[in-house]
Amino acid sequence: MENTLSVIPLGGVEEIGLNMTIFEYNNDIIVIDAGLMFPEEDTLGVDFIIPELSYLINNKEKVKAVILTHGHEDHTGALPFLLKEIAVPVYGTPLTLGLVKEKLREHNLEDAELISVMPRDIVNIGVFSIEFVRVTHSIVDGVGLGITTPVGLIVHTGDFKLDPTPVDGQLMDFHRFSEYGERGTLLLLSDSTNAEKGGFTYSEKEVRRAFEDIFSNTKGRIIIATFASNIHRIQQAIDVAVKYERKVILCGKSIVSNAQIALNLGYLRIPENTWLKLEDLKKMPDNEVVIITTGSQGEPMSVLSRIATDEHKHIVAKEGDTVILSAKMIPGNERSIGKIINHLFRRGANVIYEKVSEVHVSGHASKEELKLMLNMVKPKYFMPIHGEYRHLVYHSMLARKLDIPKENIFILRNGDVVEISDNEARKNGNVSSGRIFIDGKGMGGVEEMVLRDRLRLAHDGIVLILLAVDNLTGNIISGPDIISRGFVFEDASQEIINNVKELLANTIKGLGAEYISDSSLLKAKLRSTLKKYLRDTMERRPMIMPIIIEV
Ligand SMILES: [Zn+2]
Ligand SMILES: [Zn+2]
Repeated sequence: MENTLSVIPLGGVEEIGLNMTIFEYNNDIIVIDAGLMFPEEDTLGVDFIIPELSYLINNKEKVKAVILTHGHEDHTGALPFLLKEIAVPVYGTPLTLGLVKEKLREHNLEDAELISVMPRDIVNIGVFSIEFVRVTHSIVDGVGLGITTPVGLIVHTGDFKLDPTPVDGQLMDFHRFSEYGERGTLLLLSDSTNAEKGGFTYSEKEVRRAFEDIFSNTKGRIIIATFASNIHRIQQAIDVAVKYERKVILCGKSIVSNAQIALNLGYLRIPENTWLKLEDLKKMPDNEVVIITTGSQGEPMSVLSRIATDEHKHIVAKEGDTVILSAKMIPGNERSIGKIINHLFRRGANVIYEKVSEVHVSGHASKEELKLMLNMVKPKYFMPIHGEYRHLVYHSMLARKLDIPKENIFILRNGDVVEISDNEARKNGNVSSGRIFIDGKGMGGVEEMVLRDRLRLAHDGIVLILLAVDNLTGNIISGPDIISRGFVFEDASQEIINNVKELLANTIKGLGAEYISDSSLLKAKLRSTLKKYLRDTMERRPMIMPIIIEV
């Protein structure tokens, strides 16, 4: 509608992930964040998911810019796919753009226009005037947004918590958020991730205390697994390592690359001669080294998982090691994480994780902080974002307590449109939305990312690998057997099937019993082996689904 502002979440209000909200007024659209989501363990051959972009593609000429609140992949991971369709400038703070640049390079998008902004900068894009406001979160350089539109002021918090003692000393800009409250905010969009949790989220600094406890009582090697983007956590691990006279080894492609980016931009400080190469590990006494790596979610091909199953070239878990999982156990991953913990304990390592020690704090605001945000900004209308339905409901209950009337609160679904004009907001219809499955960040080197819609998946068919395994001994009871649907094994099909069976049988033979009894590791191995084989010999990419029956 003419002279009406439409606020449309294309992702992020039915899940944690896929964060993307658009603001549209006449001929101008701006896109806030463009995030991905990782699938649950058994989503076949899908590496990650992005929001459906057809509404933006159909309104291409209106789209003026993408604004990024911070560098987490649930806010930036869909960006390459968006920019391939719509080449527009991208605004973000220096670390956010530093991380994004690396990803864009992998997609041959190094020509993308990236515009660096600092907190309190204001940029004018079409009818919108956007101010960047510093927030504290589990990644450095996060911002919220104050967006002045023709119908009024809209505040978007980005991801935040109110950390009074951030690791880098960069405090949240309470002043600006309160000022928005005084100016009069029409609509607030706020992070709902921890809306179920009472009280306040601990400061990131609390993790340092837990690290110091562990370091002061440990004589062997220390291995810390965290998210590669958590620069604060990496910094704290390094600081504590230096205090306890240990050298640091970063292990894993993403963590090395992120640390290098942060170091170059001045967001990470590592004293000279502290960061050693992986090859130096064998020269170092166990009590003088800390290994920082990824794999805190039990991802089957991650460094930690390979360390835990003797698959890593340089690091083998052993008696005396202390392994710290310094990250949230994301629901859905508990089983895989539990298995990794078991593998490590079995090798004599001590494993410390969220449930047993304060080695992780959340990056998202709990109830009291969310109320403070609502009190500072004092919006007329409220839209909880960044959560599943239940998170949005809890967040809306907080808003109700603070006297925002029910009819002024919008709990939306992806694609729902809120129209605002003449100081009135109402829900009005919806636009096309959904999820797109992306396949192609497989192991064995960086392959070209392939965007596949369901049609394509159907076209290439599906291959099932059936296997029955004795859970206790790791012996194969039956299989591997192959069943395919919609995947044509050309002429010599029986011969190919036999070759495939033999290939898989040999792969299994090469694995230890413990590996075989961990079905998620085994599945990943079988899938990647067969995927590579079919690609190399037949140039085909069917969906591959190992089914392992544990007896
Ligand atoms: Zn985040
Ligand atoms: Zn997020």
